[in-house]
Amino acid sequence: MDFVLSQKQLRLREQFRRLAESLEPAGREYPRANLQRLAREGCLGLPVPREWGGRGEDFVSYILLLEEVSRVCASTGVILAVHTSVGTFPLLYYGSPEQKERYLSGLARGEKIGAFALTEAQAGSDAGALRTTATPVEGGYRLNGAKLFITSGGEADLYTVFATVAPEMGKKGITAFLVEKGTPGLFPGPPEKKMGLHGSATTELLFDDLYLPHSQRLGAEGEGFAIAMSLLDGGRIGIAAQALGIAGAAVEATLRCLDLSRAGQGARFVMADLAARLEAARLLVYRAAWRKELGKPCSREAAMAKTFATDLAMEATTSCLDLWGLEGTVESCPVQRYFCDAKVTQIYEGTNQIQRLVIARELLRAH
Ligand SMILES: Cc1cc2nc3c(=O)[nH]c(=O)nc-3n(C[C@H](O)[C@H](O)[C@H](O)COP(=O)(O)OP(=O)(O)OC[C@H]3O[C@@H](n4cnc5c(N)ncnc54)[C@H](O)[C@@H]3O)c2cc1C
Repeated sequence: MDFVLSQKQLRLREQFRRLAESLEPAGREYPRANLQRLAREGCLGLPVPREWGGRGEDFVSYILLLEEVSRVCASTGVILAVHTSVGTFPLLYYGSPEQKERYLSGLARGEKIGAFALTEAQAGSDAGALRTTATPVEGGYRLNGAKLFITSGGEADLYTVFATVAPEMGKKGITAFLVEKGTPGLFPGPPEKKMGLHGSATTELLFDDLYLPHSQRLGAEGEGFAIAMSLLDGGRIGIAAQALGIAGAAVEATLRCLDLSRAGQGARFVMADLAARLEAARLLVYRAAWRKELGKPCSREAAMAKTFATDLAMEATTSCLDLWGLEGTVESCPVQRYFCDAKVTQIYEGTNQIQRLVIARELLRAH
């Protein structure tokens, strides 16, 4: 056994808990005040090196931060996860020196919010089927097409957008671009009216002949699909941490508010099982994060952590809501919010069916 949280990580977890408890659970508005509070503590660039304006902490600590923030506000949690794992890391890993100079410190300090635009109507699980085009023109490209369900759509300052420079080349034509808020030809749609995560704006993004100079291309032409896929393991561990936060909040609220000493044995067994599975989920998630931090292969571990933790979040919130009975069904009860927020964790950053395909592929490869 060579994995345990360090003293520093345990201390940081305490700090993150205190910080998260000073946040307000978001209503239907984008939680700007929460994001500003996180930015002031350096938590919108926690795992970004100090030379680029971040706090230079490790990936495990970032996962602990996501869990604590999501325990209080899962909408802020997903904005933070997207901003960091797929809004800032692409620049850190693939940005040119000029691009890093221009954008990275602003993102890491939380002066700017990052977003990630891959999904399209016919390209969700099968991201390689995207149809947004980036037609080469003199000096750059013209983007045309539409993205769907983009977290922080309309709110973010910088989008990493995936489009194809050569539709006939399939995945090999996919290329990543940096698109600033306010670029002529960029039209965010209205926020979707989702079942949960009400505070996190999720919108369509329309590109109408949007011109980008070559300097806004991230990486080489045709490298976009590999860039997107390289971010997935980290993104999945982040969503697994969000699920831990939601599940933990549901279990804690139920233990705190319901008199389980008077409840039947059935209710106590439910809570005992949930507590045990929550600990198991934490171990899976922290282990995946630890492997990622060490640069070890972690696709299998990330997929297992994401599936187990997000399925648990749905199970925990459902079982807890059952125990609350009719009280659990009204808007003022936090457990109904946890229940509504939990569902989407099974869907985004790769559905849990896709995670199971990844786990099966890795199992077959090993045997
Ligand atoms: C709230 C929210 C926020 C989001 N934020 C972002 C964002 O910021 N950026 C972004 O790019 N995207 C974002 N997404 C999109 C998200 O990543 C996609 O919803 C997800 O990838 C699934 O795609 P889909 O919804 O098109 O489902 P589909 O791919 O259409 O899948 C439908 C069903 O078929 C199953 N399925 C598909 N293919 C297979 C297969 N090969 N084998 C077995 N089963 C399969 C799926 O598991 C699912 O059950 C967000 C989505 C939501 C709901």
